[in-house]
Amino acid sequence: MVDCEICGQSSATVKVKIDSTILSTCVECAKAGKIIEDYKAPAQKVPMVSRPLSEEFVVPEFATIISQARQKTGLKQEELATKMNERLSTVSAVESGKREPDLKLAKKLERFLGIKLVEFT
Ligand SMILES: [Zn+2]
Repeated sequence: MVDCEICGQSSATVKVKIDSTILSTCVECAKAGKIIEDYKAPAQKVPMVSRPLSEEFVVPEFATIISQARQKTGLKQEELATKMNERLSTVSAVESGKREPDLKLAKKLERFLGIKLVEFT
């Protein structure tokens, strides 16, 4: 990727005609002229551009992971709930898969049980 020929700050993603000069610029600087070619056009598609931003999510098999990890620690659901300062109903619901833990709770469970529940898309 080449740098924008006007500002030099961003990557040049378009080819613009400003007055009679053709330059490779970023989208912002392109506003000063007329876009004659978009580098992001399908013919020159760069995979990174179309990729959505990475997002955190709780793995679908969270219930099994939590349940197995808790049993390994030898703690009862009540004991784990107390240790985590959460309600028994919360621990019970996520362990049975009735409720998906939000990211905050999932990360807390990760810490307490030494498991991996949150992944990136
Ligand atoms: Zn620029």
